[in-house]
Amino acid sequence: MQTEIKKVQLVEVGPRDGLQNDPTILDPDARIEFITRLVDAGIRRIEAVSFVNDKRVPAMAGAEAVMAGVPRGRGVSYIGLALNPRGFERAVLAGVDEVNYVVCASDTFNQRNQGAPRADTLASMHDIARRARDAKLPCSLSIATAFGCPFEGEVDVAIIRDIARQANDAGIMELGLADTIGVASPFDVKLRVAAAREAAPGVTIRCHFHNTRNTGIANAYAAIEAGVAVLDASTAGIGGCPFAPKATGNIGSEDLLYMLHRMGIETGVDLPKLITVAKWLEGTLGHATSAQVSRAGLFPVAA
Ligand code: ZN
Repeated sequence: MQTEIKKVQLVEVGPRDGLQNDPTILDPDARIEFITRLVDAGIRRIEAVSFVNDKRVPAMAGAEAVMAGVPRGRGVSYIGLALNPRGFERAVLAGVDEVNYVVCASDTFNQRNQGAPRADTLASMHDIARRARDAKLPCSLSIATAFGCPFEGEVDVAIIRDIARQANDAGIMELGLADTIGVASPFDVKLRVAAAREAAPGVTIRCHFHNTRNTGIANAYAAIEAGVAVLDASTAGIGGCPFAPKATGNIGSEDLLYMLHRMGIETGVDLPKLITVAKWLEGTLGHATSAQVSRAGLFPVAA
């Protein structure tokens, strides 16, 4: 089946969202190796690091060391995540190619995740967007818990619309709708993508799905049907959420790529090579991972 979209950009978030929530902590050298293997498989946009407090999130310690060791000169854009102005400053100094700033749709989640009311985080976005422009760094905004919150339950679409409008006004280049705890259905995806697009007509929409309730790939398909051409995924499906103990990881990059390639959608990524990376990662982490295509294998070839 063919949709209107012919090309999708995969944003690999395994080194950040994936590893941040994995029980095994990898040191910066192992994280550099993971990233290098992803680049070798053809991935060209990677959320590589998060500039958070090392003590609070030990898995992301050494973000500067990771950025100092990633392969350069191969056309890869490395994204650094920032939750506040201090994180943004560190990201600039560490030499990221892009900054992804985060605000949570739910005020309670924002308070727990970022230690600040949502209104404060949102107010800082305008300043960060301006400073990113001055530093000539593309700046995107992710709306976490855009589809539901573990503390507040339903998230009103009006909140998404309001944040999207402010992102548009601030000159944010890309807006990510993140299903942080994996509760979305394809219907929610269509509704929220349409709302965000209407409120932020000049901004590219990106989607970020977790497969906690097994709707992740269906949601990715719904996003593509809604015209979204930038999708996050993590190799081997690693990850979770610190505030949702039973949450599983992001949709697996290899699972997403399998679907896209079978639909005739280009990604520029070498899927057999990425499966090798997923297997290496599983061995390095020392536990089973959740994505399926690495286990099942690719479409069978006639004997
Ligand atoms: Zn996530």
